[in-house]
Amino acid sequence: NTPALEVSNLHKYFSVHRGILRREIAQIRAVAGVTFSVARGETLCLVGESGCGKSTVAKLVMRLSKPTAGTIRLDGKDVTNLDEGEMRKHRRHVQMVFQDPYASLNPKITASTIVGEPIENFERLSASEREERVAVILQKVGLRSDAMRRYPFEFSGGQRQRLAIARALAVNPGLIVADEPVSALDVSVQAQVLNLLMDLQDEFKLAYLFISHDLGVVEHIGHRIAVMYLGGIVETAHKEAIFGEPLHPYTEALIDSAPIADPRVKRERLLIEGDVPSPMNPPSGCHFHTRCPYVTLRCRREDPQLREVVPDHFVACHLREDGYRGPLPRPA
Ligand code: SF4
Ligand code: MG
Repeated sequence: NTPALEVSNLHKYFSVHRGILRREIAQIRAVAGVTFSVARGETLCLVGESGCGKSTVAKLVMRLSKPTAGTIRLDGKDVTNLDEGEMRKHRRHVQMVFQDPYASLNPKITASTIVGEPIENFERLSASEREERVAVILQKVGLRSDAMRRYPFEFSGGQRQRLAIARALAVNPGLIVADEPVSALDVSVQAQVLNLLMDLQDEFKLAYLFISHDLGVVEHIGHRIAVMYLGGIVETAHKEAIFGEPLHPYTEALIDSAPIADPRVKRERLLIEGDVPSPMNPPSGCHFHTRCPYVTLRCRREDPQLREVVPDHFVACHLREDGYRGPLPRPA
């Protein structure tokens, strides 16, 4: 059973100019050693604060940007080094939904053309066959048939995002990469769009790589969750394990700082202070050590590897490598 998406040891470094004369060149490690896979019918959520590299992973998977190292496989096919022309043929396997549907939809064309265009790129259909197909897809995303002749500005925010989802669905992709797809919507509309995505997933066995900073959203839609910090995954597990028994101190702190209704495990809240360090100059050893309340000498020296410390539960923390699941000892 080939996964819809397999990402292995992915790296992306950028060079930026800095200093007063902009002559100094610094490297940003946006993504460093990220590995995961997403099965058909499954939602993997990448969560983390802004700047953790999650959107960069999305762009790499879409091959809008080329990785510095690592491999990306779509339905088993290695697309890591495909050029633009070759990648175009694979576009139908992976489609993207963006945060701001207004910016991602051409304001000058009607919904019928917005959804019809990608179909035209991949299939030879008569105009009437295409129209018919578009009508079916619009209905699937909960838009009425009179939506066909309307322009993006004539829709509400939630309807526009439904239209963007319709466009993504038009070519029957196996995988949809969604980068903060409900963050720009009113909270009351967010759940409707998430529920739509879940219904479509069931119907078409879609795989979702779902990027979000919002743990409430992730708890609603995710099957598995990967928590990112400074370009790397620090913990990944099924949703129930992440929320019920977070093992990485950063995950614990993220959950404690989020307004989530029912934290299943009652414990003392873990609050972390300070800002995320610059990815230009990440801390030595464990990149989280500058903010971690459990930091030890070893943490400053040695970078913990992501390991399976409990079945299906991977954590990158020295204090968990023997599978210890209890509360962590705070240093004196
Ligand atoms: Fe904290 Fe050390 Fe674990 Fe990093 S390895 S999360 S610094 S305890
Ligand atoms: Mg982002």
